[in-house]
Amino acid sequence: MNNEIINVAIDGPAGAGKSTVAKAVAARLGFIYVDTGALYRAIGVNALRKGIATSDKPAVAATLGDVKVELAFENGVQKVLLNGEDVSAEIRTPSASMAASDVSAVPEVRAFLFDLQRNIAKENNCLMDGRDIGTVVLPDAKVKIFLTASPEIRAGRRYKELIEKGSQVEFKDVLEDLIKRDYNDSHREIAPLKPAEDGMIIDTSELDFEGSVNAIINAIKEKM
Ligand code: C5P
Repeated sequence: MNNEIINVAIDGPAGAGKSTVAKAVAARLGFIYVDTGALYRAIGVNALRKGIATSDKPAVAATLGDVKVELAFENGVQKVLLNGEDVSAEIRTPSASMAASDVSAVPEVRAFLFDLQRNIAKENNCLMDGRDIGTVVLPDAKVKIFLTASPEIRAGRRYKELIEKGSQVEFKDVLEDLIKRDYNDSHREIAPLKPAEDGMIIDTSELDFEGSVNAIINAIKEKM
């Protein structure tokens, strides 16, 4: 029987703190943390490597024939494998972010990644983070949270992360990219980013890390 498995869906725009905050919540609950954006990023990186324009939907769909994307979990840490190669670092560049946003609007890409996400959730207590987890991938998730914050706050967090990793970026470019990605993600025809009707919205603009973690844990406790 599967009814002991607990799934928590966390959706929201880029930079809302989903990855860092959700990772900490998952660790405290003893759940695995699944970052589904990494899957779209891997498909984006694969297209970039092949020299394909990521906005060319038929060309992106055609790359799916010979691509293998897998998630591996080592001590609770997720790795993404592209045709067996660990691309966990390469998928984090700004060009990979934009490529991911482009390829995520291709219906064949979403269908390609659907079962992989469902199968992980079927077998594990997990906290799954993405854009369409509560609305499409796991509509029966026990808890659905939409995590958000103002664009400036989110861009500030993303900028800090990139600078700490040694990237040479300008704040205004990070903000511009993020606004463009938000627009793409919430206006695409298929699985647009939006809160689930039966979900809970948490705005982290005024919350620090610990405050955000507690807000999510309280929301989960409330539902269970
Ligand atoms: O979460 P992250 O910023 O890594 O996601 C990268 C891109 O992948 C997003 O901008 C979005 O376009 C896409 N994505 C998606 N559905 C998900 C997760 C990510 O469309 N479940």
